[in-house]
Amino acid sequence: MNKNEELEKIDYQEEIKNLQETIGLVERIKKSAHKLDSKDITKSSESCEELLETYEMAYQRMEEIFEQLPKDAIGFELEQYHFFLKALISRLNICLRVLRKKLEDFKICSKCGHKHKNLVDICEECGSELHLSPSKLY
Ligand SMILES: [Zn+2]
Repeated sequence: MNKNEELEKIDYQEEIKNLQETIGLVERIKKSAHKLDSKDITKSSESCEELLETYEMAYQRMEEIFEQLPKDAIGFELEQYHFFLKALISRLNICLRVLRKKLEDFKICSKCGHKHKNLVDICEECGSELHLSPSKLY
């Protein structure tokens, strides 16, 4: 199978739609990060990481194929797909940073400021309850 055949196998309209939807989802997770509790944030950042890994691999593969293709073989759909893939990867990176920062915030005691290595319910330093529910955070 040559490079062009390999690319033709992909339904780009469908792929682009999927990428757009995923970008929307990532943006929603990022925006609601301050409302999520630590369990949700842990779950979201894990799935963000998985997505990032998958799409970075796809992007790398695509770059390799692009290099071997003549310029005129790269059509509009393929360029669009490339664009959305890149946009998604950068949004996933931002989302992950936001979620990780929030997760770090959950490890700090609001009363004494002690920073824990892991998520805990009770502060190891002063014994007060850590704000694991978002309502206590804001
Ligand atoms: Zn404390």
